Amino acid sequence: MIIVMEAHAREEDIQHVVSRIKELGLTPHLSQGVERTIIGVIGDERLIQKDQLSLLPHVENVIPILKPYKLASRDFKQTDSIIDVAGVKVGGKNVVVMAGPCSVETEEQLMITADAVKAAGALLLRGGAYKPRTSPYAFQGLGEDGLKLLAKAREKTGLGIVTEVMESPDVDLVADYADLLQVGARNMQNTKLLRALSKIRKPILLKRNFSATLNEFLMSAEYLLSGGNDQVILCERGIRTFVEYTRNTLDLNIVPAVKQLSHLPIIVDPSHGTGRHDLILPMSRAAIACGADGLIVEVHPNPAKAFSDGDQSLTPAVFQQLVMEVKAVANAVGRSLS
Ligand code: PEP
Ligand code: MN
Repeated sequence: MIIVMEAHAREEDIQHVVSRIKELGLTPHLSQGVERTIIGVIGDERLIQKDQLSLLPHVENVIPILKPYKLASRDFKQTDSIIDVAGVKVGGKNVVVMAGPCSVETEEQLMITADAVKAAGALLLRGGAYKPRTSPYAFQGLGEDGLKLLAKAREKTGLGIVTEVMESPDVDLVADYADLLQVGARNMQNTKLLRALSKIRKPILLKRNFSATLNEFLMSAEYLLSGGNDQVILCERGIRTFVEYTRNTLDLNIVPAVKQLSHLPIIVDPSHGTGRHDLILPMSRAAIACGADGLIVEVHPNPAKAFSDGDQSLTPAVFQQLVMEVKAVANAVGRSLS
């Protein structure tokens, strides 16, 4: 449930309600609006009688949140959340482009790509050091050596780093290097990993599993939020359907649907969403037109030689074209490319 405090409630009134919630064995989450404070109450609501809290001084209203996700819902927070990733603001009016190779392969490959995506207008550099591959015989990533190369690329270009963490024991190590920690589609419901990530003070990019419903997607975000990490960016990356002409079906419906139900920003990954380099530009334009807060795109200096996902990687020149086109669409829908 959420507790709406009166507009003139003072800090001590808010703290009084907060301590009452804790006495009841529940967890309070504060959301400080421009006008008033809202307190989300998380836990077993059977422990609480609605009236116990609504009678406290300066409580204006107590409203049950009927959705299964609470802190992720717009009922809890009406205004769009803006997530700060190494100084880059994701959400609100901004459209942010993140780009880089699927996998970090070599220093040369990463530095060439980092320089190119920066020159084209990307603000964050993506690159996998731990790769969730379908085949155990495929390239699994460089591990910590890959993370070190990403840190080097950040030093050289100033771009913040987005990289995947696959297992909970790796969370601290990856958090030492990354500015935005990616939870891959296969791990969206790895609750142990989500709980570990909820305890760190770095933002999380939560990718939708290819068979997850909207409800399941937001429930995974709820794991992060309820554990104490409210820096969450959602990512649509395509779902499994019967079609065989693309790797996945990019479900752009989910972008405006998430916007109705949640305050969290959502970006789109047209690379995994299509699996085809020739479809990435039109789907990127479509993603921004329907309200996405950004894109994450795979770029490789020589896609034919990529260790992973070459078919869906853009050359730097095509990526530059993508940024120009996306900028025009962003402006047309009242957003701006930051
Ligand atoms: C990736 O970003 O390279 C990746 C493996 O993504 P996903 O988890 O969406 O498949
Ligand atoms: Mn990939």
